[in-house]
Amino acid sequence: MDYLPIFLNLQRRPVVVVGGGAVALRKVSTLRAAGAQVTVVAPALDLQLAAQAARGEVRHIAAPFIPAHLGDAVAVIAATNDIAVNRAVSRASRERGIPVNVVDDAELSTFIFPAIIDRSPIVVAVSSGGHAPVLARRVRAQIEALLPARLGALARFMGERRRALQRALAAPARREFWERIVSGPVASRVLAGDLPGAEHAYGRELLTSTLSGAAATGGNRLGEVYLIGAGPGDPDLLTLRALQLLQQADVVLYDRLVSPQVLERARRDAERIFVGKEPGDSGRQEQIHELLLRHALAGKRVARLKGGDPFVFGRGGEELEALARHDIPCTIVPGITAALGAAAAAALPLTHRRFAHSVTFVNGHQAEEDAGSDWDFFADPRRTIVFYMGLGHLEHIVRRLRAAGAAAEHPAAVIARATLPDQQIVRGTLADIRSRVRELQVSPPALLIVGNVAAFTADVAGDISAAFAPSAVPDSAAPARPAVVAAGALP
Ligand code: SAH
Repeated sequence: MDYLPIFLNLQRRPVVVVGGGAVALRKVSTLRAAGAQVTVVAPALDLQLAAQAARGEVRHIAAPFIPAHLGDAVAVIAATNDIAVNRAVSRASRERGIPVNVVDDAELSTFIFPAIIDRSPIVVAVSSGGHAPVLARRVRAQIEALLPARLGALARFMGERRRALQRALAAPARREFWERIVSGPVASRVLAGDLPGAEHAYGRELLTSTLSGAAATGGNRLGEVYLIGAGPGDPDLLTLRALQLLQQADVVLYDRLVSPQVLERARRDAERIFVGKEPGDSGRQEQIHELLLRHALAGKRVARLKGGDPFVFGRGGEELEALARHDIPCTIVPGITAALGAAAAAALPLTHRRFAHSVTFVNGHQAEEDAGSDWDFFADPRRTIVFYMGLGHLEHIVRRLRAAGAAAEHPAAVIARATLPDQQIVRGTLADIRSRVRELQVSPPALLIVGNVAAFTADVAGDISAAFAPSAVPDSAAPARPAVVAAGALP
């Protein structure tokens, strides 16, 4: 190692920063976050620094640097763009044995600033020893994405209970106990921001451990379920929390809609179980509940991966009820629902000040049922209606919309396998969407979007607003819709 990483306690300790510009400001912010008493030496100050000085948050010496300014500083930072000044600061500090950092100059420095990931009290520091700061920052960004935002809260939660636990459990059992806390439902609850839930789970873990006299072994640890929205298919559209939980789950139960690309992001050695339902397969849901319960009750961390969002036509609510009946902790992670993925993929805004003031998600099966006045609502082109599971019901849906008064020119778009490499986007009108879908052999999963916005392209926006005046559904004299057909693969 060229440098030893150590963590310095600067609470209420004097630190001198020489320089008053933007770079100095950044250093001052970092130092103040660590509780240092900062003195800035500079003839003139950056506006923000000047404001801090005026509020008395930092001390300002408005003069060119002289060694006497160092006083009893425990660390010194030179952040000027004058190499002669930086050298003078470096020399004066070293002569007095005070650690000094000259920004972007490892030669003149006796210590360097790492890139910091701050989940206080958990802090990660990354350094390239001055060789490649850009690379260090890249590593920092990658670690940022891996570490849950509430990691600090988890550390505090554990810290607050350490004393009491020392009295409750003997040394060897304690370690195992904490291991189970960080890798079980207590941690998931804290990281999801549910402190009462965490408290409840902690009580149960404590009871299990004290009853068994030692730390509970694998057999009686608490299992849990993560109900995760897997998004529309592109793995980069997973949320950070989905990724974090996928990488710790022991078992993954996944649907037909979960793409192989997403599944690949699960832990290598996790057991993967396909629980996809074929259409009309009604008994399957009960079996899924049983599988979830069986694995969770065996102490496993079970990821239940569902396409899109678990609570949008996903039966996530029923699975939640089944888990609640057995008091199994569950973390719900939202996902990007297909409508949002498809809209982004097709650059089709679901609402737009000029074309649509609401958006409605509808189960396409509804076209088969008599849903009465709903169809009058759906037929208004100023409303964006997204039909899920609609491809098989396309005939019915179009017929019903027309019967409710929608014009033949009412814009319609079908987006299939949105965000996946073989995505298809078909645009048209109620008059021709069926033939287009047939011609292009569109296959599920696909969404149907109807309403003004389905004809939206950024460059013909003016045309659409002219054709669909806010008051009325256009008559047949309205200009034909720009029939944009963009079927095919993403770049
Ligand atoms: N929970 C899911 C929806 C499940 S219902 C979500 O929030 O997206 C299944 C329907 O979702 C499919 O019939 C199809 O209409 C739609 N769907 C799911 N993934 C899709 C995708 N990648 N592209 C287009 N439609 C999709």
